[in-house]
Formats: sequence, C-alpha cells, structure tokens
Amino acid sequence: MTFKNTLLFAQSLDQQDKLAHFRSRFFIPQHNGQDTIYFTGNSLGLQPKTAAAFIQQELDTWATLGVEGWFESTNPWLHYHEQLAQPLANIVGALPHEVVAMSQLTVNIHLLLATFYRPTSERFKIICEAKAFPSDQYALASQAQLHGLNPKEIIVEVKPRHEAQTITTEDIITTIEQHGPQTAVVFLGGLNYYSGQVLDMPAITEAAHAVGAYCGFDLAHAAGNIELKLHDWQTDFACWCSYKYLNSGPGGISGIYLHEKHATNTSLPRLAGWWGNEKSSRFQMTAEFRPYASAEGWQLSTAPIISLAIHKASLQLFEEAGMQNLVKKGRQLSSYLQFLVREINALHDKPAIQVITPAAETERGCQVSMLMLRKGREIFEALIRKGVIADWREPNVIRVAPVPLYNSFEDVYRFGEIIRSILD
Ligand SMILES: *Cc1c(COP(=O)(O)O)cnc(C)c1O
Repeated sequence: MTFKNTLLFAQSLDQQDKLAHFRSRFFIPQHNGQDTIYFTGNSLGLQPKTAAAFIQQELDTWATLGVEGWFESTNPWLHYHEQLAQPLANIVGALPHEVVAMSQLTVNIHLLLATFYRPTSERFKIICEAKAFPSDQYALASQAQLHGLNPKEIIVEVKPRHEAQTITTEDIITTIEQHGPQTAVVFLGGLNYYSGQVLDMPAITEAAHAVGAYCGFDLAHAAGNIELKLHDWQTDFACWCSYKYLNSGPGGISGIYLHEKHATNTSLPRLAGWWGNEKSSRFQMTAEFRPYASAEGWQLSTAPIISLAIHKASLQLFEEAGMQNLVKKGRQLSSYLQFLVREINALHDKPAIQVITPAAETERGCQVSMLMLRKGREIFEALIRKGVIADWREPNVIRVAPVPLYNSFEDVYRFGEIIRSILD
C-alpha cells in the first residue's frame, strides 16, 4: 500500500477498517478529558468493557452458591478453564488439548523447563538470545543452578552482529549446530520485547530438532500480536502472558502450550499438583498422581476463576475479530508508523530516529522500537504532555505498539506529528 502523510489519509484508512468498531469495546485512558494515544498495549493491554460483567457473574455465583460454584453454576468453575482452550489454541496455532490457561509466565517457564531441561553429562546446554527479558535470564540461570551446574557453562547466548540491534536466523542456527550434541534446549523470545523482532520460529525449531534438542519459545510479546502455528511448526513447548496483547488485566493468568506428542505423554516427568490430576479421580484424594493426557496435566493449583473470567471476556473479542484480521491490521499500523518516521527523517540532513525493529513485514508485529538519535528525552516528555502513553528504555529507545484492537491510523498519524513538531 502507498501511504500518505496526511490526517485525511489516516482517517480514510480508519473508515475502511473493518476492525475500527472494536475500539469502543475498550476503556481508553483519558488525558485532559480526551482519549490518550495508548501505545503500551505491549506492556498492559486495555480493559475490555465486558470484563466487569464476567467478573460479576462469578462473584454472584460465589455469593449465591459458595463452594457449590465448582459444580453447580452456569459455568461450573471446575471446567471454567476448558472454555478458554479453543480461543487460545486459535491464537497460538495449536490444538485445544495442547494449551491451557494457568499460573503466571515466569512460573510456567520454570514448570516447562522442569519437564524439558533435564541435563545429562553429554547434553546440558541451553541456547537463548543475548539480553533476553530479565525474568527469562533469571529463570534459565536458576534452572542450571538447580541442577548443580554453572550457568556460565550452560547458557549460550546468540548476540547481534557488531552494531546491529537484532539477531540473524543464520547466527541462531549456526550456534545450534556448533553446540549440537551438547544442546538440551533452545529457548528464545519469539518476538523480542526490546527490538520488536520476530524470529523465524519454524526454522529454529527444525534446527533444534536436527541436533536432538527440544525447542521452546517465550511468546509474551507474540501471543495476540503475530501469526503463530506452534503445532505445525512442531514446537515442543511455549508460554505467554495474558496482560500484554491479550488484554486480560494486570498480573493476568498465563498460558502454556505443549505439542500433543508431549502433552499426551503422561509418563513425562513434571512438577505435579492436584489440579493436573484427572478430574475423575482428583477428589478421591489418592496418593497416586494420574495426570490428564493433555496440557492440563501441567496444572498445579486450583484455577483462579476471577483471572480466568477476565481472560474469557478478552478472548471473546479475539474470536469475534479473528486473529488473521488482527495480524494484518497490526502490521499495517506499524508499517504506517515506519513510513511516517522515514518522512520525518527526510526533513533533516541527518536522521533523527533509527527504527531498530525490522522493516520486513514478516519480521515484526505491531511494535516499533525507535532509537532516538536527537532530542530523545525531550520528545518523550512532549509525548507525555500531549497525552501519548509510550514506553522509554534507557539510554534512548522509545517503544510503541499501536495495537489493532483499539488503536487507529489517526493515533499513528498524530503521534508522528508530535515528533515532527518537536524536531522542527
Ligand atoms: C512481560 C514478560 C515477562 C514477565 O513475566 P511475568 O512472570 O508475567 O512477570 C517475562 N518474559 C518476557 C519475555 C516478557 O515479555
């Protein structure tokens, strides 16, 4: 599509946008009585207006039925999480029995590594990206220590080349091949939280399997943002959070995926809890753990119904909008933003902004990370004054995510105008 740098053009894109009406289904934070330009859906997605009613329904069940709510209500709590499996499977490209909404992201990383990282004297290394999200780094290092190993000898990081901000698929695959027979697990962020780069997950999975290693992804910034086909890619395991693109509230419930060949393998070692036990025998309180033959077999604790209720409200919107439509609009929004940055740079002798997110559509979702070469802090403060909510990373990166469910092309245009006026 050829873009134009005018308000009228942005508004005409909004008029043609079949997803535009979803904006009114969310609460948009206000600034001086007007909608903010909310570009931090990659950090905390906005609240669906239906969330309160979904919570209220379960509060009512609790009020009227007490403990019987587990069995007797319209949505018996015992089965509540099952309603989320199909919509979640649609978002990550999985079969319903390969996914379950449970627990928190970092906890789930540990639970999945408990199953997939079982180092031996021959095979003990973990391959990940340099500067992974801190929680992921802590999780990997502490897993090594848990096995009595030194993280420095276990964790192999793939770094960007020279001055580059992103890593290449070639370098990831070469690293996997180099450490091949010693590699136990390849675990990477499918969409890098800092640069916004999407990794070639199918190629990486294939390379990991070729050396006999397991392959997993942290999809915190990918779930609900880009097209995922975890089952077809043969990815072994993955996890994500629901409070970023999936709009399910601060600290909202996480989700896990295990390929069905693992999910249905009840003899796979795991950290077990009673909620992972088959429902038929769960309440017999027997000593023997009989896991579900599905991702549900990795559940540990009593399902948090209030978190699940918010998640259900949000996932209904994803079902209505359709993941493919969302992916397409998300890319268009970020393409438009990248176009506007090029226009701004063209007004000056030297570029003022370096976009570190890849330009290629297949290598990004809706996030755009901008290295501010001039007046970075000044621009960021002006954005705040004008009601833009964006994210600042030291030393000088502004990350923004125009998300397809509630952001508009006009939001993107107005954002560009604020930056242009400060640089003038
Ligand atoms: C947001 C994010 C987390 C946060 O983990 P929590 O356990 O939900 O606090 C971890 N890893 C990545 C890559 C993230 O983007």
